[in-house]
Amino acid sequence: MAESKPKPKIKKEAVPIPKQLPEVRRSNFNEVALGYTEEQALEEANRCLQCPKPQCVQGCPVGVEIPAFIKLLREGKYAEGIRKIKEKNILPAVCGRVCPQEEQCQMKCVLGKVGDPVSIGRLERFLADWERAHGLEMPEKAPPTGKKVAIIGAGPAGLTVAADLAKLGHEVVIFEALHLPGGVLVYGIPEFRLPKSIVYAEVEYIKKLGVDLKLGYLIGRTFTIPELLKERGFDAVFIGTGAGLPQFLGVPGENLGGIYSANEFLIRVNLMKAYAFPDYDTPIRIGKHVAVIGGGNVAMDAARSALRLGADEVCIVYRRTREELPAREEEIENAEEEGIIFKFLTAPKQFIGDEKGWVKQMECIAMELGPPDESGRRRPVPIKGSEVLMDGDNVIIARRRTPNPIIQRTTEGVQVTKWGTILADENGKTSLEGVYAGGDIVTGEATVISAMGAGKRAAKAIHEYLMNKK
Ligand code: FAD
Ligand code: SF4
Repeated sequence: MAESKPKPKIKKEAVPIPKQLPEVRRSNFNEVALGYTEEQALEEANRCLQCPKPQCVQGCPVGVEIPAFIKLLREGKYAEGIRKIKEKNILPAVCGRVCPQEEQCQMKCVLGKVGDPVSIGRLERFLADWERAHGLEMPEKAPPTGKKVAIIGAGPAGLTVAADLAKLGHEVVIFEALHLPGGVLVYGIPEFRLPKSIVYAEVEYIKKLGVDLKLGYLIGRTFTIPELLKERGFDAVFIGTGAGLPQFLGVPGENLGGIYSANEFLIRVNLMKAYAFPDYDTPIRIGKHVAVIGGGNVAMDAARSALRLGADEVCIVYRRTREELPAREEEIENAEEEGIIFKFLTAPKQFIGDEKGWVKQMECIAMELGPPDESGRRRPVPIKGSEVLMDGDNVIIARRRTPNPIIQRTTEGVQVTKWGTILADENGKTSLEGVYAGGDIVTGEATVISAMGAGKRAAKAIHEYLMNKK
């Protein structure tokens, strides 16, 4: 009887990604994670078991055929590998950097039961970066259909719909209010996590598909949705305007100088390049003691940006405990390594200013966790008499953001929820004929990949609508 060959042993630990050292990166805006070398990518790809019923694919909101691209990667077929990813995901270099894979594809990976799951995101990033260095390959397009679609917003949702519809042969125009495309990818997420040049390279690819990108068009002001449909010859509209309206705490002293919303702070830093002042026009005032209120990705990004801008001490003030922090674990660890201080079970009660009207201190109250609230997380409850003063000559409020109401107010008949999000079914269909919506404008603030997943479903529904329209 022939002896069966012993199976090669799979390493339990994932290949770590090289990073800038904390003491170096805390004073620069260069990318923190440096990406796998070819050797590291091959080693990590070889950990994949090529499962016949891959659970990881079920965890991907856009359905990337993960084992298939990993197989191509480990055979050295990089061009084919990235083509395989792009069949489903047109922003792989972005997603490979910022997607919460640990809660999606990687959470479902069978290897996670015995050790680290396969680092799917890092492998995706490796192939996307390889393609950027070796030249982009364009997919085939269907012949023109003669139908025209307006996309409002050039964030992940709008870009996904635009690319999918352009590939299907429709004429696509994106209207973006800002002077740059990318949505939160460029105005929110800082350079050290997602370099802008990477976002622009992925947008270039979408433009090469024939998508017309019009910047500086605020829909609701420049044109309304009824005008686009009735007077400007569009057969359908997709709304992907996100949730960019900052929320404040509503406590005394919030109008003092030196208190920013995270939105304003990050826009100044990212979009207006305040970190390179005076080479760029936009200044930003950073104090010695910066307090960031909140615990999500936005709070981590604001805190780590403030540190890089020269603050002596940056403290994240969060109402719950470390366990409930909603930010990605990887980014929490990066923040801790860089020296960000965390004050848990603490909330500001009021801000105290100096004689010139600038914030100098915060009165904070200690919290304890009570029974779960509607989000399923334990509700923080203030502990009476536990007030303390904390120094803070800069405060950044990183609360959950809500949609800007301009589209809702200027589009008669579009149904809206009590939170100001647009009501749409799972395929993005709104209450108005030919008008679809997806991404944060429908779900409220979520993730890049969930916005892209909504974009893919909406593109399919819009295509069907257009092809059946008389
Ligand atoms: P957006 O990205 O908000 O894009 C909407 C676009 O529409 C914008 O460009 C806006 O200017 C434009 N627009 C708005 N109104 C109009 C109008 N009337 N006319 C024309 N254009 C308009 N998610 C992750 O998965 N991982 C992360 O690490 C992560 N980090 C984040 C960090 C920060 C600081 C922030 C703010 C968010 C983060 N997110 C992260 C969330 C993620 O970025 C969003 O869920 C995602 O960008 C939503 O995509 P979208 O296309 O729906 O909207
Ligand atoms: Fe590979 Fe994990 Fe997917 Fe299995 S579940 S195919 S091991 S990535």
